[in-house]
Amino acid sequence: MDLVSLYKKGKPVVSFEFFPPKTWQGIAELYEHFRELMKCNPGYITCTYGAGGNTSLEEAQRRTLEVLRWVRGDYPDIPVVSHLTCVNATKIDLQNYLYKVKEMSVSGIVALRGDAPSHTLSFVSVPGGFRYAVELVRLIKTEFPEFNILVGGYPEKHPEAPTLEEDIKHLREKVDAGGEIVLTQLFYNNDDFYRFRDLCEKAKINVPIIPGILPVTNLAQVKRITSLCGAKLTQILLERLEKHEKDEEGQFSVGVYYATRQVEDLIQQGVPGVHFYVLNKSRAAVHICRALTL
Ligand SMILES: Cc1cc2nc3c(=O)[nH]c(=O)nc-3n(C[C@H](O)[C@H](O)[C@H](O)COP(=O)(O)OP(=O)(O)OC[C@H]3O[C@@H](n4cnc5c(N)ncnc54)[C@H](O)[C@@H]3O)c2cc1C
Repeated sequence: MDLVSLYKKGKPVVSFEFFPPKTWQGIAELYEHFRELMKCNPGYITCTYGAGGNTSLEEAQRRTLEVLRWVRGDYPDIPVVSHLTCVNATKIDLQNYLYKVKEMSVSGIVALRGDAPSHTLSFVSVPGGFRYAVELVRLIKTEFPEFNILVGGYPEKHPEAPTLEEDIKHLREKVDAGGEIVLTQLFYNNDDFYRFRDLCEKAKINVPIIPGILPVTNLAQVKRITSLCGAKLTQILLERLEKHEKDEEGQFSVGVYYATRQVEDLIQQGVPGVHFYVLNKSRAAVHICRALTL
């Protein structure tokens, strides 16, 4: 399945991102939520790999492969994409992983650098490994041409980049090297996305740029995530959520309402698809997809 062609059909493509659960209970819950999400008829699903640079190579690979194997077995018709980072990996480790997912008929790879472990200051590649995601993109393009290559983009700029323009210059390098779809970091102010999209257009980045949406259903959790990835909550969203500080259902309603309006506006402004960070839950994304008949 060619994922790029999905975006040419004129109807917004919905994709969902999962992470590999750490516990048996998490796995059981994921099965349930996955089933619900499949009713929204997503174009493809993606599974993350490692997190925050703190997972060992073996652990990261094992967990992601487990989820991919299960989805492939139970949902053979849904195209599956694996995230992959350069954290703790030599080129040979990356090649070995790519061979394994190739055998599973995975459709694409989100080619990422990954983050430095939390106790270190900056990303350092292992000897024989890669320093930037663009090197992984080149490896996949030359040695595994059967995969679609997806890359990360940052509407509010990557936290390490000195400016948004500099960051977009490096995004252009990833696209020139073979990146075919840009999935963005989550954001809450659509104007940030439109500014980013305009700058990408100026930089002649002519591939689908797919906004990443994380509906806030739990304020404490989203505050933690946004502080890690550098995305900002908007003042209006924050104020409304804080009014429901001790009321989970209230937070859920505010988060879903906000995300629905955010997605509606993005679709009106012509985005070819929306990528939901579902955090292994289905309720919010299903509400939004139903409300917008996506
Ligand atoms: C859609 C999406 C999915 C993600 N999934 C995961 C996941 O599954 N697991 C995980 O651990 N993390 C994940 N992340 C987080 C990601 O790994 C981090 O944001 C990481 O810090 C950067 O990864 P990257 O691929 O964007 O890196 P790069 O594109 O390599 O960029 C990293 C930084 O280096 C700069 N840069 C790039 N090239 C050069 C160059 N040649 N010279 C100088 N500077 C340069 C960039 O401007 C940027 O500041 C995801 C992010 C996104 C947006």
